[in-house]
Amino acid sequence: MAKVVVLGAGISGHTAVMVLRKKLSKKHEVIMVSPNSNYQWVPSNIWVGIGQMKPDQVKFALAPVYKRKGVNYKQALAKTIFPEGDGTTDKPFVEIEYVDESKKGQTEKVTYDYLINATGPKLNFAGTEGLGPDKFTNSICTYGHAEKAWENLQKALDKMAKGEKQRFVIGTGHPMATCQGAAFEYILNVAFEINKRKLMDMAEITWLTNEYEVGDFGMGGAFIKKGGYVTSTKIFTESILAEYGINWIKRAGVKKVEKGVIHYENLAGEEKTIDFDFAMLIPPFAGVGLKAADKSGKDITDKLFAPNGLMKVDADYTPKDFNEWSANDWPSTYQNPTYENIFAPGIAFAPPHSISKPFKSKNGTPIFPTPPRTGMPSGVMGKVVALNVAESVKQGKVVLKHTASMARMGAACIVSSGYGIRNGMAATLTVYPVVPDYEKYPEWGRDIGYTVGEPGLAGHWMKLFMHYMFLYKAKARPGWSFIPE
Ligand SMILES: Cc1cc2nc3c(=O)[nH]c(=O)nc-3n(C[C@H](O)[C@H](O)[C@H](O)COP(=O)(O)OP(=O)(O)OC[C@H]3O[C@@H](n4cnc5c(N)ncnc54)[C@H](O)[C@@H]3O)c2cc1C
Repeated sequence: MAKVVVLGAGISGHTAVMVLRKKLSKKHEVIMVSPNSNYQWVPSNIWVGIGQMKPDQVKFALAPVYKRKGVNYKQALAKTIFPEGDGTTDKPFVEIEYVDESKKGQTEKVTYDYLINATGPKLNFAGTEGLGPDKFTNSICTYGHAEKAWENLQKALDKMAKGEKQRFVIGTGHPMATCQGAAFEYILNVAFEINKRKLMDMAEITWLTNEYEVGDFGMGGAFIKKGGYVTSTKIFTESILAEYGINWIKRAGVKKVEKGVIHYENLAGEEKTIDFDFAMLIPPFAGVGLKAADKSGKDITDKLFAPNGLMKVDADYTPKDFNEWSANDWPSTYQNPTYENIFAPGIAFAPPHSISKPFKSKNGTPIFPTPPRTGMPSGVMGKVVALNVAESVKQGKVVLKHTASMARMGAACIVSSGYGIRNGMAATLTVYPVVPDYEKYPEWGRDIGYTVGEPGLAGHWMKLFMHYMFLYKAKARPGWSFIPE
């Protein structure tokens, strides 16, 4: 009997656990350790943040699903990995701390044969002074944050309705924050809601971003086929922002937020400020703070994790200049190089470098997006890792038949605004591959046949459809495994 432990019931870990349960017979144990008793479909938090959905529509309780599927669920936080065991056991284990009320604070050593670390990002609001829902800005990264953002947005809408002008600033809250796509989708939705109420003349809306050009989205931008001709995501994105009446400030690294004032530095090295009444800024991401120790209890965290707390995997981490970056730097199996039975799919893995070109301000501050790991690649990575682990369990040795490099896989991104069947518009972007490969595609860095962008109502329907489809899949309803990641 083998024991597989998955940490984190997000898009990557939940996918992994479901695939493992489908592939492995019941004599093998599959354990999920995750602190939140709910699964949340993170992309739909945007709709919670504009009051078009309630948190209950984007989340569901994990325990009944795991009970039905035979997953041993522990509502707990993983704390320390002991990949060689400790003085009391040779078996590798992870030390966890329960967070559910009945066992709160209790710890347990959960032994494993294979460990999948899918703990995603720590939302590192502390990385920027004054950032976050407990300080001066809003967030939509969790359903709780998004609900609070909607409360604050309503107040701003009410003030405008009473004739008081409001300034909205939405974007990235750190010089190296990522997840521009989510913030961009939110700003379009906020603009849509303001427009719907015919309050545009009372609003000043600004897109504040660390991107070198808007439309970079942390993937170095893209050339896309649109209506039969090739254009850049810069032009595509600028024209959408202009259409929505949104100003933009690019190459801006937010360094501090005070009540109503955002301080940022730009690439020219200038220290600037922008005033706001409502701001939603994405925080920097880091690893969730897992530790590792060897048999003697000595800290070996730096052996398993990069300095940012994300886990080292089969990437090429040799420091390289931008011109030397290669598609082959990107990992494909997400196996830890030191311990062959540990894997890290999704946001939990440490990327070899950014995808966007790195820039430094005149003062030496790095201002550029770190690489996004969006939902679709995170789901695919979770599945591929689970398939390899299941195969390894069956063969009794580690086999890595399945691969999923971000330099060899595509991603679709739908940035939708508005809500409902008739009202809405979406910019649908598909890129292949996510990480550009100029050796294979010298002209555009990507396959221009599959790197496409189209605005329109159809993409908006697709986004709405995806909300229901992916929640159906996550609940493991009949036929779930036929729905792609
Ligand atoms: C507002 C928003 C909108 C987005 N929209 C889109 C979109 O439209 N399309 C798209 O492709 N992507 C979108 N994304 C990105 C997408 O949500 C992420 O790519 C995806 O969630 C990453 O999956 P993950 O499993 O790596 O991490 P997560 O989904 O964050 O899951 C990590 C899990 O680990 C758990 N965890 C944390 N610490 C521990 C610990 N110590 N022990 C155990 N478990 C732990 C967490 O509770 C969580 O359940 C959006 C992101 C945001 C914030």
